[in-house]
Amino acid sequence: MERLKHALKCVSSTYAFSLKILLMKLETRAIHAGLHEGEATKSIAPPLHLTTIFQHPETGFSPENFGYSRYDNPNRRQLETLLTDLEGGAASLAFGSGMAAIAAVVQSLKPGDSILAPIDIYNGTRRLFNEILAHWSVDIEYIDMTDATAFEQGLKNKPTLVWIETPSNPRLLITDLDAFISKSKQVGAKVVVDNTWMTPILQQPLKFGADVVMHSTTKYMGGHSDVLGGALIFREKDTWFDQVKVIQQIGGAVPSPFDCWLLYRSIRTLPYRMRGHCENARKVANYLARHPRVERVYYPGLPSDPGHTIALKQMKDFGGMLSFQVKGANAQETLAVVAKAKLISRATSLGAIESLWEHRKTSESPTSPTPDNLIRMSVGLEHPDDIIVDVEQALS
Ligand SMILES: *Cc1c(COP(=O)(O)O)cnc(C)c1O
Repeated sequence: MERLKHALKCVSSTYAFSLKILLMKLETRAIHAGLHEGEATKSIAPPLHLTTIFQHPETGFSPENFGYSRYDNPNRRQLETLLTDLEGGAASLAFGSGMAAIAAVVQSLKPGDSILAPIDIYNGTRRLFNEILAHWSVDIEYIDMTDATAFEQGLKNKPTLVWIETPSNPRLLITDLDAFISKSKQVGAKVVVDNTWMTPILQQPLKFGADVVMHSTTKYMGGHSDVLGGALIFREKDTWFDQVKVIQQIGGAVPSPFDCWLLYRSIRTLPYRMRGHCENARKVANYLARHPRVERVYYPGLPSDPGHTIALKQMKDFGGMLSFQVKGANAQETLAVVAKAKLISRATSLGAIESLWEHRKTSESPTSPTPDNLIRMSVGLEHPDDIIVDVEQALS
């Protein structure tokens, strides 16, 4: 229904073609949605608008027109329209990085507000909350978001905002979106879901009632380790959206037109890349689960994983990420396994075509709760047999 409403809006504002696109499947929409946004020439591949300024109409500047590139530009509008469409939201805001998107959300909070966040959370988000936000008299509480009782306890303090990350980073813990979002709503909290690891191809938190979906578009959306970006997709075009849009336009942490162009280009192949990531990660996870040197695999696709049943309920597939612990290894020995890889690159980040892995604790901080023997892996799109051969020799 939301998509239909959005489609009808698009018809009046742009092209009747948009209506047809919005009723098609994800794979089709990923390639066509937003293409003609602000683009009169209707080129098949969108042009890159490097201009910072646009001619005002004779009646002077109006927000519907492009005026100044920090406020809006055709490439950003194409990207935002595409993201809105794929997540099934009402409107989106693109930023220069995932962290800039998170910072925009927290800048909309006031002193005295509070956040309920998961213990296992992207390290940058934790640092932003602890090292920056804490100075603004916003209270942050971390709880285990796989535990319904702990969650209900946390909600008793009536948080302004509930931050959910599922699967979480780096232990791929699964939070029940349906149950936890509806409980949050009962106490009047706003809910943001960091959907970076799943992408809208595999999980759509707005359908479960989340207010905002956040992405580091640096990861699967970009997919080629060559562009930083972030985005917020809102379920409603409400006053909160207007407020965060002011933070985007006036705060100015915006992506360049080229960043938007690269992201728009990459997202067009996202549905098919995600199929490959899921298929390859499944094979690597099953291989690791049987390996004598592996203590534990964190991957919600394994039937033995504690999050498996909930994952089946809310995810279309299990994604391309996994973590595992090397049996009996200390940090040094775990680093040695990582260093032995020949095909898999030793690097942080994730979601790109090439396989990457890292000793996660050294990328986080000595105080992070991540185990010393944990390796986090982003399974790429090489042939799975070649990836497994490399994992095998690194563990030998
Ligand atoms: C990378 C990442 C971020 C931060 O995004 P940047 O683009 O690096 O600023 C936030 N959340 C998750 C889950 C991430 O993986």
